[in-house]
Amino acid sequence: MEVIIIGAGIGGLTLGLMLHRAGIACRIFEAAPELKAVGVGINILPHASRELCVLGLEQALAKAAVTTREYCFYNRFGQHIYSEPAGRFAGYDVPQFSIHRGDLQMVLLDAFVGRAGTDKVIPGHKCTEVDYDGDEAVAHFEAAGGKPLPPVRGTAAVSCEGIHSVLRKQLYPAEGLPKYSGINMWRGVTRWQPILTGAGMIRVGWHHPAKLLIYPIRNGIDAQGRQLVNWVCDIETPQYQARDWNRRGKLEDFLPAMADWHFDWLDVPDFIRASDAILEYPMVDQDPLPRWSFGRLTLLGDAAHPMYPRGANGAAQAILDCRALSDALQGNTDPVAALKAYEAKRLPATSEVVLANRKAPPDAILQEVYRRTGDKPFKSIDDVISREELIALSESYKRVAGYDKERLKAAR
Ligand SMILES: Cc1cc2nc3c(=O)[nH]c(=O)nc-3n(C[C@H](O)[C@H](O)[C@H](O)COP(=O)(O)OP(=O)(O)OC[C@H]3O[C@@H](n4cnc5c(N)ncnc54)[C@H](O)[C@@H]3O)c2cc1C
Repeated sequence: MEVIIIGAGIGGLTLGLMLHRAGIACRIFEAAPELKAVGVGINILPHASRELCVLGLEQALAKAAVTTREYCFYNRFGQHIYSEPAGRFAGYDVPQFSIHRGDLQMVLLDAFVGRAGTDKVIPGHKCTEVDYDGDEAVAHFEAAGGKPLPPVRGTAAVSCEGIHSVLRKQLYPAEGLPKYSGINMWRGVTRWQPILTGAGMIRVGWHHPAKLLIYPIRNGIDAQGRQLVNWVCDIETPQYQARDWNRRGKLEDFLPAMADWHFDWLDVPDFIRASDAILEYPMVDQDPLPRWSFGRLTLLGDAAHPMYPRGANGAAQAILDCRALSDALQGNTDPVAALKAYEAKRLPATSEVVLANRKAPPDAILQEVYRRTGDKPFKSIDDVISREELIALSESYKRVAGYDKERLKAAR
C-alpha cells in the first residue's frame, strides 16, 4: 500500500506521520516550490494535542509554542466577565498549545522527514486531478508555470489541499462560492510584553463594533522578554474580499472600531499599531458535503470541511481526521472500504462543528453578555449572568467540538 497525500499543510504532514507510525507507506506532494513557514497563530486544543503527543511531538511543540494556561473573556470596556483554565491547567492529560502556524508546520515537517526520509515530501507538485475509479489511484500534477509532470500511482489518494482544494472542485464542480458570515477578520502578530498571565487566550467584545482575540504564540523573543502575540479582530460588515490566507489588510479599515479601547491591562490601539503585518480574511465556510470518499480518493481537513476560523478548530479537526483515516487504513485490507469507514466516522462529527461555529461558537459567552447588557458597562457581572450559565455556555461548545474532558477521558 502507498498512499498519495496531496498538500503538505497541517493535515497532510500529520497524516504522513500517522501513516508512517502505522507502517503504511506514503508520499506527500506539495504545490509550493518550497515549504515556508506561513500564516499567523493557531491553537492546538486538547483533543488534537493528544494526537500530536501520541506521535511523540510534545517536547518539540512545547519548545516552539506557548503552553496555554487559560481562557479569559472581557467586554469592550475591558471589564472581566469570566476565566477558566485550559489544557493541563484544567485537568486534561495533555497541554493546549498556542503556536505560529509556520512553527507547527515546521515541527511536523522535521518529524516527518526525520522518520520517513526527505524524499517522501515532494514540493513543486500541484495536483490537477485524480483518477479514483480503477484498481489504483492516479494523481496528475503540474509544476509551477503549468508544465505537466509524470502521474503518480498509489493505493489511495488523500486531498489535504486546504480551502482551495482542486480535488474538491473535481468532485463537486457545481458547488457555489463560500458562504460569507457577515463578519470580516483582520489578523496579525505584535511583539509585546506578556499580557495578563502571558499564557491566556483573551477574547474581548462582540462583533459590533468589534471583537478581539489575543494570544501569545512565541515566548521570550528578545532580551526584554517580549512575546510574539497573535491577534484577530472580527467586525460585522457587508464589505469583504475573496478568501486568501495571505491578503494584506489596512489599519484604517478596522482600528477606528477599537479607538477607545484603553484598558488598564492593555492599550489596544497601541498594541495593534505595533503589529508586524496585517492580514485580512473573510469569515466564510461551506455547507457540509454529503460525501468525501469516491473510490480511492478522499478529502481531509479544510478540503473536506472548511469552517469559520473561530474556536481554533480548523487545525484540530484536520488532526482528528488524520487519526481516523490512519486507523481505518490500518484496520482494512480494502482501501475503498477504509476511505468509506473514515468518512462515516468523521463527516457527521465535523459537520456538527461547521454548524456550531455558525450558531453557537466558543465565544457565545461574549454574545450573551453583549445582548443582556445592551453593550453597556456593568457594575457586577453577577447581575448580568450567573457563573453556572457561563460554565454551561463554555462546556456546550467543547462537547460539540469533541474536547470536553469526559469524552477525552472515555476515549483514552
Ligand atoms: C498560507 C496559509 C496560511 C494560514 N494561516 C492560518 C492562520 O494564521 N491561522 C489559522 O488558524 N489557520 C491558518 N491556515 C489554515 C490552517 O492551516 C488550516 O485551517 C488547518 O490547519 C487545516 O489544515 P489543512 O491541512 O486542511 O490545510 P492547510 O494547512 O491550508 O494546507 C493545505 C496545503 O495544501 C497545499 N495545496 C493546496 N492545493 C494543492 C494542490 N492542488 N496540490 C498540492 N498541494 C496543494 C497548500 O499549499 C498547503 O500547503 C492557513 C493556511 C494556509 C495555506
